[in-house]
Amino acid sequence: MTRTNSLHKVRNIGIMAHIDAGKTTATERILYYTGRTHKMGEVHEGSAVMDWMEQEQNRGITITSAATTCVWKDAQIHIIDTPGHVDFTAEVERSLRVLDGAVFLLDAKEGVEPQTEVVWRQANHYHVPRLVFVNKMDMTGANFQRSVNMIQDRLGGVPVPLQLPIGAEEEFEGIISLVDQVALYNRGKAGETVESGPIPNHLVDQVDHARNQLVEALAEYDDDLMLQYLEGDFVDAPTLTTALRQATLAGQVVPVLCGAAYKNKGVQMLLDAVVAYLPSPVDIPPAKGHTSKEEEVERPADDGAPFSALVFKLMTDPFVGKLSYLRVYSGTLKAGATTYNATKKKKERVGKILQMHANERKEIEVMHTGDIVAVIGLKHTTTGDTLSTMGAPILYESMDFPVPVISVAVEPRTPGDHDKLLASLALLAEEDPTFTTQVHPDTGQLLISGMGELHLEIIVDRLLTEFKVQANVGQPQVTYKESIVQETVVDYTLSKQYGGHGLEGQVKIRVKPKERGSGHSFASSIGNRDFPKDFVTACEEGIMQSLQSGTIAGFEVIDLDVELLDASYQQDTSNEVAFRMAGSNALTQALKQGQSILLEPIFKVEVHVPENFVGAVVDDLNKRKGLVTDIDAVDKTRVVRGTVPLSNMFGYATDLRSATQGRGNYSMVFDRFGEVSKSVLARFTS
Ligand code: GDP
Ligand code: MG
Repeated sequence: MTRTNSLHKVRNIGIMAHIDAGKTTATERILYYTGRTHKMGEVHEGSAVMDWMEQEQNRGITITSAATTCVWKDAQIHIIDTPGHVDFTAEVERSLRVLDGAVFLLDAKEGVEPQTEVVWRQANHYHVPRLVFVNKMDMTGANFQRSVNMIQDRLGGVPVPLQLPIGAEEEFEGIISLVDQVALYNRGKAGETVESGPIPNHLVDQVDHARNQLVEALAEYDDDLMLQYLEGDFVDAPTLTTALRQATLAGQVVPVLCGAAYKNKGVQMLLDAVVAYLPSPVDIPPAKGHTSKEEEVERPADDGAPFSALVFKLMTDPFVGKLSYLRVYSGTLKAGATTYNATKKKKERVGKILQMHANERKEIEVMHTGDIVAVIGLKHTTTGDTLSTMGAPILYESMDFPVPVISVAVEPRTPGDHDKLLASLALLAEEDPTFTTQVHPDTGQLLISGMGELHLEIIVDRLLTEFKVQANVGQPQVTYKESIVQETVVDYTLSKQYGGHGLEGQVKIRVKPKERGSGHSFASSIGNRDFPKDFVTACEEGIMQSLQSGTIAGFEVIDLDVELLDASYQQDTSNEVAFRMAGSNALTQALKQGQSILLEPIFKVEVHVPENFVGAVVDDLNKRKGLVTDIDAVDKTRVVRGTVPLSNMFGYATDLRSATQGRGNYSMVFDRFGEVSKSVLARFTS
């Protein structure tokens, strides 16, 4: 598709939700109503267009974000379908980095679920304006108002309902638009026609009240509206829409809509809202980055500006090779042109440019500002890199990826599979920054690590089927980390003899524990101006190398702040090798002095069960060394929330099913790395 609209008619959006809320179903409807597909695919038949990887269709879930483009009225909407399963949170993170707006789907009977909370926080981090669509209004237990309340209570958002459902559950018939004060009904075989009518009599008072609340909520953010409101004037639809758009773009309010995607209800109204209230590339602040000299620079969203784009995803395609997905922030670039990877400081040639529609692709000649496309031919580029014009390089902030929490050992079945296994794993790791491979320092075993059992299962599946590697796979285990609890100062002097030469260097470092999840930092505060910079760098390298394996059981050390306080050198016997060793040894000593601790992944768990099973569920969580934090009631269901070490949650799905006669369900999201119990520690130290 070539650019048919001006930039303010473009919407780059993501659809976010907890698993099973209906993302894929809603996306299929969107593609159908916008004319992108002519037959509606259904998830349970394994025929949904966006779920195209073999594993996705078998499991009925969405794994890799597929990008697609459609046209609604005169707007061009780029959608990235993101997975809802917590194991694939990195996919969501990278989508949020490059999107301008998001639609959050809630399941009307569940309201805000744990994965929604995680993604909502990620969206806050990237300041993404958003709408909420309360889906599944037709199902038993559906409750619009409860979902609205949960947006406030659990997510800290300011929800403003734009609609009211006409009926609920089996009686869910249609939707009232509060802005336009009409009732809307989907008619026709696939709900393709939207018919409007008067507001049903029994809802007139409720609608008046809800519209007043909407006006009141917006008055706070809009002076004109405030005046009209205070003077008791009727606030007309265009005034309301303008105020709503501004408050939504500023992240002050979250418009809430409702519907039932599976029943073909409310999806067109959602599309209207996407166009009316979510930003175009020109509505977001100019993209901020910096030069290689750390100076801040920006790029306006303008085809006439120098080209700049962020690569947010790599995928290996069996037919065309490596696909690099990128978001263009400024300028244009033609297929065949040369561009500059400012992150890697390398020239790159763009072979072909593809517009993606799930696994189908269409070649285009030029990419424009605001586009999300895939390109073929980039050789040095990896996820998070910035491409720009040679003469005007810019670097954009990359994205944060969570640390893998679970590992399995893999072993080639025959010696002949060994190289192929390593090569395939390297390709998979390149696509997926939350997947890592390493050789265990003690056993020499090859470990692959990821975000959860499902994540690793899918990777192993792809290894065996797509890459056709023969391998045996071990039992999943959690990944452990180490850190220290006490600030400590180490003054270390290296004095060694190597083949008749002396090797000397002195360093003094301070090592402090940092907040969990904040990563390492290193700074030098050496007063001596003559101290060679190269020696500081060597010292830092030595320190970083020692952080790879802790002193308790050789696990990676996390979250330390290291400061080089002082250092001195000898003219003849000091060199980079000496300072690398000095830094490394000083840090190892600091780990011993600073009271090293062993850490394991702790997960937030939410269990939904009928009331009479609450006791059993709580007892069981206690046995797993969990901490129950609260128990909530949603109608007849009880929601048990708490935190549990991941190592005690293997097999939980089966155990919960048998303890609740199949009536309980649960979900988990990563919370933090927390200190292990004494008994776990003893396993590693005795
Ligand atoms: P995703 O995991 O968020 O992509 O959710 P899916 O689109 O795969 O939907 C999960 C299940 O819920 C599927 O069986 C859908 O058919 C069903 N579903 C989705 N939306 C609705 C709805 O509005 N009403 C009803 N009754 N079922 C729905
Ligand atoms: Mg899905």
